[in-house]
Amino acid sequence: MANPTDMAIMFDASLCTGCRACQIACKNWNERTYTRTDNNGTYENPLELTSQCWNRILFNEPEERPSSDDDLYWYFTKYQCMHCTDATCVKVCPSGATKKYKVSDGDSEAYVVKTDPKQCIGCNYCVATCPFQACRYDEAEKGIFRCVLCFDRITNSPEAFPTPAQASPDMKDQPEPYPNRNIPACVMTCTTGALNFGTREEMVELAKAKVDELKKKGVDNAQLYGVEELSGLHYIYVLEDSPEKYGLPEKPSVPAGVTIWEALVKPGAPWGGLALVGLVAAAGVGYVINKRNEGLERKVAGGGE
Ligand code: SF4
Ligand code: SF4
Ligand code: SF4
Repeated sequence: MANPTDMAIMFDASLCTGCRACQIACKNWNERTYTRTDNNGTYENPLELTSQCWNRILFNEPEERPSSDDDLYWYFTKYQCMHCTDATCVKVCPSGATKKYKVSDGDSEAYVVKTDPKQCIGCNYCVATCPFQACRYDEAEKGIFRCVLCFDRITNSPEAFPTPAQASPDMKDQPEPYPNRNIPACVMTCTTGALNFGTREEMVELAKAKVDELKKKGVDNAQLYGVEELSGLHYIYVLEDSPEKYGLPEKPSVPAGVTIWEALVKPGAPWGGLALVGLVAAAGVGYVINKRNEGLERKVAGGGE
């Protein structure tokens, strides 16, 4: 199960207005470029995560709209890599490029799933198997991209935050310009307070209190998401209705084939020797086919066993 002192983001769908400031802040901070999109009759843009868009707001339009003042209703969802504790992408990666990174900061630890582009071999296994379809390969940059929980911000990386003196000798007497720098860019930018950042324990408690508050207001289907899923996500959601209405998988899971791959086939797998069983079987199949072919050749040539 996820460590209670890991850092996590809490998204409160009841407060999100779909302004997409977080989407832009993510692009801005992480120096992602624009991509051309078309209008497909929805406010959602772009229509999927890309190597240039690591965080997007889903505009889910329900068939039956709950009553609202202006008769408009969307289930807004912030969608990105969930930094799963049981991370399929880490399990499946054959080169060890995708890992869980932990950096301690006082009482808490940053838990981030990241891919080292230098080690990535571009097999795309992680892209194919992620239960949230949350990571993308970029051919030009030769690497896998996803939300990195603003790793550089939350770990106060000096590359991300040079001191005023480092930025320019003329600024050496200037005060520190980034008072809240160790908060992810999307959280810092959220216009309505729908995003919060803290230890996972704090975020789960906050989310539970929000769900109770919503229920008291008559939102009977208010519920949590991300607390138990995949042994705990590092995004905790407060939803006003079922995950399905928000475009979130009801029961995300690690595909069975990935578990077998991790245990038996992946380089360095604990039971890697058992892969030999497969090799022996394959050799056996090859032997039978070869013998059959040999037999057919002899028949054609008028021979026999
Ligand atoms: S959401 Fe996908 S890419 Fe992100 S940690 Fe989970 S399996 Fe990996
Ligand atoms: S935590 Fe950082 S990388 Fe992740 S969605 Fe927010 S801004 Fe983007
Ligand atoms: S900035 Fe906040 S309110 Fe705006 S879309 Fe993002 S999560 Fe929703």
